[in-house]
Formats: sequence, C-alpha cells, structure tokens
Amino acid sequence: MRAMVLRESGGAVRLESVPVPAVAPDGAVVRVRATGVGLTVVIMTANPGLVTSFPRIPGHEIAGEVVEVGPLVRNVKPGDRVACHFYLTCHACSYCRSGRETLCRNFGGYLGMAADGGYAEFVSVPALNLCKIPEGVSDLEAAVATDALATPVHACREEARIGPGDRVLIVGAGGGVGIHAVQVAKLCGGSVLGADVADDKLEMVKAVGGDAVIDGRRGDIAQQALAQTSGQGVDAALDFVASAETLEACIRSLAPGGRLVIVGNRPQAVFKKDPTFRVDPGLMLRKMLEIHGSRYVSLAELETTLELLRTKRLRAVVTRTFPLEEAETAHQLLRDNAVVGRAALVVS
Ligand SMILES: [Zn+2]
Repeated sequence: MRAMVLRESGGAVRLESVPVPAVAPDGAVVRVRATGVGLTVVIMTANPGLVTSFPRIPGHEIAGEVVEVGPLVRNVKPGDRVACHFYLTCHACSYCRSGRETLCRNFGGYLGMAADGGYAEFVSVPALNLCKIPEGVSDLEAAVATDALATPVHACREEARIGPGDRVLIVGAGGGVGIHAVQVAKLCGGSVLGADVADDKLEMVKAVGGDAVIDGRRGDIAQQALAQTSGQGVDAALDFVASAETLEACIRSLAPGGRLVIVGNRPQAVFKKDPTFRVDPGLMLRKMLEIHGSRYVSLAELETTLELLRTKRLRAVVTRTFPLEEAETAHQLLRDNAVVGRAALVVS
C-alpha cells in the first residue's frame, strides 16, 4: 500500500510502498478515506519520545471503512464506516472505566506515534477505538471530528463549563481546533471573543458565529478582552496556542470565578521557547480563578461530537484538502501558520 512515512523525529514525511498491516485479534483494519492534518501531528512527531520507533506512519484523525476484524471483535464489522479515537488506552483502569480514559494509568501512547496511523491506505487499530459514523456525516467531516471538533466539546463542556450568557475568550480561534471551539462555545450558550493573528482567520471566526474578534497583532489580548467586556473580563478563556504570553494574557482576561483552560501545547523541545507562565497566587485566591488542563476526549464524547455533526449543530471547517502524497506540503503550510481551520488528506 501507499503510505507517507516518517524516518526521523521532526523530519519530512515521504511516500513509500509498505505492506498492508495485519489485523490483531482485538483489532480492525480500516481502509482510510480521510485523515485530518493539524499542528498536533507536526508538533508531536517532532517532540522527542512520542514517536516510539521509526519508520512510522503518522496521522491520528482517521475515518474510513472496516475491511477486516480480529476474532475477538464485537463492536464493528467489515463494511462499517468508522472514525477513530487516537489514544491507545487499556479500557480497564479506574480512569478508563470512569470515562476519563485520556488519563489512563496504562497509557499506550498515541495512534500515529506509538503505532502506525492514517497517512496510508490502510491502518490497523484496536477495535474499541472505533466509533461508527452516522448516516449523513461524510468521511472528511468524521475524520476531523475525531480531534479538531471533539477536543473542544470536552474543553468547553467539562473544563470551561460554559453556560448560557458566559463570556468566552478563545485564543487561536482561527486554527484547526480553535475554529471548532468557537462553535462549541456558542452551542453552550457563550458569547465568544475569538483572538488570532491573521485576517483570514479572524474572518472565519466571524463566519462561524464568533461575536467579536481580537487581533493579536494590535497589542495585548487581555487589554482588548477587557475593553470588549466593559472591563469585566471573561468567564472562561480557552488557550489553543498556550505560549507563556498567551497564557498570562488569558489569566489577566478572567473575571472573578473565571476558568483558564489550557488546550494548546508548545513543548520547548519543538518551539525552542519556554512556555512556563507566571501566576500570582494572591490573584487566584482573591478572584477564585481556576486553571484546567484539557486533554482530548472520551470515546463517549467522540460519539457525541459525531452526533452534533449529524444534526448540523456543528460544522467541520476544512479549508484545504490534499492527496496522500502531498502531506508534507500540508505540514509546511501549518508550520507557516497559513491554514485557516483544518486541513485534511483525502486518501481513497
Ligand atoms: Zn486505562
């Protein structure tokens, strides 16, 4: 089969011909139809230790059709259209069994890093990672739903706890995950300020329902957020960039009782800049602020996300698609911060 293969940490992916993967007793082989391409892939495959061996086929936002299942599999069958949860978890520890599987005690790593992923014509995955795609949801939508849409569903509902009337700041609002967070925050009843640093991204934030935008090129995000909320600040700030500067700006943007939710990831090993940020504990105490880390979603939340697509309450914003062999072109556009919303590979 054709696959885009990574041969070194942070290197380019290149087209190679490799064997179709074998099915595991509790696994499924999926014919890949579409795979999302986002900064997560670019960042994580360059962050030492996450890719467990080379050569490796990246790609974790996968949708396709089951072609073969192992003898122990009960939840899917050949012919099913499926989307794939990208954390390799044990399904048996207390976190997994309480719907917090992203904290799995026996975490096996990430699909596309600890195991071959979706930049290929076929992928072999644990069957319990698969969710059936509802009728009316396309493969392309389902692929990006698995992270770019699902991640904000958890972050907005469970961590930011956005409710009707809440003022919400989203930093990195025009990116692949942020643009969907704008929509989810609106669905939760929030009034959304979307911050980004490019005209086309800020336009897309408005196009998907953002109430107002903040242009990060025009000075401090916090000052602008305070100005746009009559000095009161926001009830929740979700940071999809998560540099020291944006995180400190988020803290300064919060109203009393406000929640900062960290979703972005800028490891120092990749960005050559320390993301550690400073927080005044006295301010935290006086304003009763909260800081949350938000890590992907549960399998149940992935199902919810697919249902939100089916009922048209969410819209997948995929502005660029590429054939499999052009994955590296997509990666370079992401490194250049030149993709509005999500990009994806249309595989077969
Ligand atoms: Zn577990």
